[in-house]
Amino acid sequence: MIRLAFGQQKMQRNLLVGVLHLVVYLGFLIINIELIEIIIDGVFGTHRALSFLGAGYNLAIALFELFAFAVIVSVVVFWIRRNLMHIKRFRSAELKGWPKLDANLILIIELVLMFLFLGMNAADYALQLREVAHYSSAGAFPISGWIAPVFNNWPEAKVIAFGRGMWWAHIIGILGFLNYLYYSKHLHILLAFPNTFYASLEPKGKFENNATVTREVKAMLAMEAADPNQEIERFGAKDVTDLTWVQLMNAYSCTECGRCTAACPANQTGKLLSPRKIMMDTRDRATEIITSKGLKDLADHTLLDHYISREELWACTSCNACVEACPIGIDPLSIIMKMRQYIVMEESTAPGDLNAMMTNIENNGAPWAFNAQDRLNWVSD
Ligand code: SF4
Ligand code: SF4
Repeated sequence: MIRLAFGQQKMQRNLLVGVLHLVVYLGFLIINIELIEIIIDGVFGTHRALSFLGAGYNLAIALFELFAFAVIVSVVVFWIRRNLMHIKRFRSAELKGWPKLDANLILIIELVLMFLFLGMNAADYALQLREVAHYSSAGAFPISGWIAPVFNNWPEAKVIAFGRGMWWAHIIGILGFLNYLYYSKHLHILLAFPNTFYASLEPKGKFENNATVTREVKAMLAMEAADPNQEIERFGAKDVTDLTWVQLMNAYSCTECGRCTAACPANQTGKLLSPRKIMMDTRDRATEIITSKGLKDLADHTLLDHYISREELWACTSCNACVEACPIGIDPLSIIMKMRQYIVMEESTAPGDLNAMMTNIENNGAPWAFNAQDRLNWVSD
């Protein structure tokens, strides 16, 4: 969690994007510290309530402003990359409609919040320079100091109204944005932390054995007594209700960045599979169930077939590249494997080639259609 979520280690694989993302992340965190003072001032009618901290306060305000400016630059670069540059992972079919609008809305909201913050500071600084009562000198303004001369010809009351308007818009904007998170991929700014905390620490690509199968095999080999009261579980996953809570958290943490899809060999070779879409579909289906207030559609409208097709599932090579590529430790492969397990073990409807191979393993102890007794025929010459 410290390396992936706090340190953003995997984001640094592309240094420019990694640094800009770190700036946005740190900028947002740091500027929200400033929000505490902004709220105190609003509630108690004070002016820069924390300015008693002296030189440290001035330094902090200057840093907040520099970060706000850096966030603006980063957000503009991100917008250009997403909308004007031909980066394949931003042009996939699954991003059409709401996902693209959501991504752009997030960038625009961040941009507007930064401008509101700097506008508020600029009006405040202009009033400080005029030595208006209440606006005592406090803070350092390396960025909004450049904007403040705009107010030179404005009457005092108008500058005060402007500053207060910025204050209200900033507060409403931030509180609105916090509520928007739950409808947006931006929820990752909260969920990335628990998501990386609960990511698998097993060796790369290690698969879980199915506990029910293990129990049955052990009973057959007389390694363990069979329990006649043992409930038979469903094998694999047909719907999101068969997934674990970590897999569901994975789906809600997904930032839709598409690094997994860009790394996926199946996707690169033109197959239908996109691991990002697997996560988006899982989240959409989970949201559909949550918002429908019940599981009434469960039987005839499931994750398998209605969201994720069998063609997508069987295109996966189980290479683990998507898991490796994900900056916040999401595991699309585990969902794919669970859904395949359902197809094979509950429906027995795996593709013909696989069924033939599994029958051969069952009958001959090898994937080929030869009797086990004939195995050494090739040495007879
Ligand atoms: S494990 Fe499957 S989905 Fe993930 S990158 Fe490999 S082929 Fe693609
Ligand atoms: S699963 Fe990870 S890599 Fe793939 S889109 Fe979501 S956040 Fe990005």
